[in-house]
Amino acid sequence: MLPADILKRYRVSDGRNFRLADFDPGDTAGLDLDKDDTKKMLEQSAKRLGALQERLYADHRWAILIVLQGLDTAGKDGLIEHVMAEVNPQGCDVHPFKVPSQLEMDHDFLWRASLVLPRRGHLGIFNRSYYEEVLVVRVHPNLLETQGLPPSLITKDIWQQRYEDINAFELHLARSGTVPLKFFLNLSRAEQKKRLLARIDNPDKQWKFNAGDLKERALWEPYLEAYEAMIRATATAHAPWYVVPADHKWFTRLVVAASIVERLEAIDPQFPTLDDDALKELQAARASLCGGQ
Ligand code: AMP
Ligand code: MG
Repeated sequence: MLPADILKRYRVSDGRNFRLADFDPGDTAGLDLDKDDTKKMLEQSAKRLGALQERLYADHRWAILIVLQGLDTAGKDGLIEHVMAEVNPQGCDVHPFKVPSQLEMDHDFLWRASLVLPRRGHLGIFNRSYYEEVLVVRVHPNLLETQGLPPSLITKDIWQQRYEDINAFELHLARSGTVPLKFFLNLSRAEQKKRLLARIDNPDKQWKFNAGDLKERALWEPYLEAYEAMIRATATAHAPWYVVPADHKWFTRLVVAASIVERLEAIDPQFPTLDDDALKELQAARASLCGGQ
């Protein structure tokens, strides 16, 4: 498991002075591990996460909302597969957020997310999220016009208003026992180029390549500006952002797994224990079973 002092470097709980330039996508915290070591470490973290998730489920009080954001090829899908490898599928829900449907656009922008929030005892993973509303939509403001909003509500203040709405939404969640943990997979432009080329060249990955990805890649700077503004406005104590280096997949996965484990350990969910009456009932049931057929 990665130690707390390493995880701390990537956690932003107060976004006011946040600058993306202070975070290096290629950072591995000085760790120079071979493949076997990183594999073992990740397996260990995944097992720990699985064990804690079982307690979370049994305790049935808290829910964890894991938000994954990042540019194309940042590694969101692979991360879900590897970090959640030991989690019981019954206690974990994954929801991808794509271009909104007509039904979704006929509602406020948090509606579709609120329908699929994790229930108590569950880990919920949002693969992209309501944050797209201040990312892709901010980079392509013409998308706002497709959302059916009353024109008088589309003003220059709309992004600030959306940040405020998101902060209020997440505070409401935190106060209800749903803990938001938000991860920005911070990828470099050079590494994205490599990964897009790998998609084109590998027949098993070609289905993932989307011509639109190149159009978005051309908007690299506006996207980073949108990410920076978003983190500044929405990194809070109750819903921190983790700015995770994403150029080395093994490191990204270790940071995310250990950060979720750290939060779950702080929550410290417990298996329910039985009171004296319930224990007596249990003993009576045992006696009845043993005495009968
Ligand atoms: P992917 O995650 O690669 O499968 O792609 C999903 C696509 O849906 C991305 O290009 C997102 O930017 C897009 N998307 C997600 N949410 C929204 C939204 N609220 N408005 C417009 N596009 C969105
Ligand atoms: Mg894509």
